[in-house]
Amino acid sequence: MIQSKPLTGQCPHCGAPAEHLAYHSRYILKSGQTVMVIRCKQHKGTFCDRYGTAFYDLKTPEEKVQRAIQQGLEGLCPEAVARVEGVHPTTVQRWIGRACIQAEAADQKVITGLRAENVELDELYSFAGAKHPDEQESDPEEVGQHWTHIAMARESRLMLEVVVGPRTQESATKLVEGAAKRLTADCWPLWSSDGWEPYLFALTVVFAVLIHFIKGKGPGRPKDSQIVPDPRVRYGQVIKQRMGRRLVSVTRRVIFGVEELIPLKQISTSLLERLNGTIRQQVAPLHRKTRGVAKCRTALDTQTQLFKSYYNLCRKHGTLKGKTPAQVAGLSGHCWTLRELLTFNAAITSKIT
Ligand SMILES: [Zn+2]
Repeated sequence: MIQSKPLTGQCPHCGAPAEHLAYHSRYILKSGQTVMVIRCKQHKGTFCDRYGTAFYDLKTPEEKVQRAIQQGLEGLCPEAVARVEGVHPTTVQRWIGRACIQAEAADQKVITGLRAENVELDELYSFAGAKHPDEQESDPEEVGQHWTHIAMARESRLMLEVVVGPRTQESATKLVEGAAKRLTADCWPLWSSDGWEPYLFALTVVFAVLIHFIKGKGPGRPKDSQIVPDPRVRYGQVIKQRMGRRLVSVTRRVIFGVEELIPLKQISTSLLERLNGTIRQQVAPLHRKTRGVAKCRTALDTQTQLFKSYYNLCRKHGTLKGKTPAQVAGLSGHCWTLRELLTFNAAITSKIT
């Protein structure tokens, strides 16, 4: 017996609200799945309920696509997934690309307005195509050493922002800017990172305030205006000294903020370093010493961004009592299924039960 719930959403073609939409018909795919056809009274046309999702216009059964994506998210490289599922590796890449569009949209929508006490910043070494590419033949934007820069909220383990790119000031600024956008306007966390200089400059730029000096009583012009970081920004660095492979000493120092008010113990990137280990294991192009490297930066970025959303919304975390980071942060009331993530951009929601 097929029952249908009221439609919610709008027409993807003309934007007509749900009142103008009605069930038209349904058809059954080879896989046995039922697809609903919806009629829009405003533009007098039809569309199906898979419109806008990662499965739209695919001949392959949804379960197969979903299984392939899940295998990719568990660290299998696209070539291996292709062998397991009996399809071409390019097909798997295309499915992952479709999944990433949905996942990024979900992440943008849900991971926002966060209040965090501590944000950790760090980067992971990786490369696309070749470590030392031929300068004439390859595009430096796509091939070469591209680091995975990560910003994580410590308490909830939420991955706030991931930037895949060269280890430059630009990447660091993009990371801090992206992470700051996910926080509420009145949230001033303590930022922690290693001693890599660009983070310091990035925090200065992103939270910049301009100070104007007024003319005093004495002779002469007032001082020139200055750009300084907002006095509410708190930032500390953990400097690790190594002798060969052995860790010799760990120094923590406050860079921005009142030194007496920031417990040095709070300046740490250890939980993000643990997360780095998880990411290396789960994202195939980041495996060390294997042949699973991504061919270009875009492929590496797609897989990493997809994993980010999956990690935030779907993946139950071991040390968070089986909850997802988004649940702990209070941004989502439930643990998302992979299907929910892959159909996030659906024009309408109508579940056939
Ligand atoms: Zn319409």
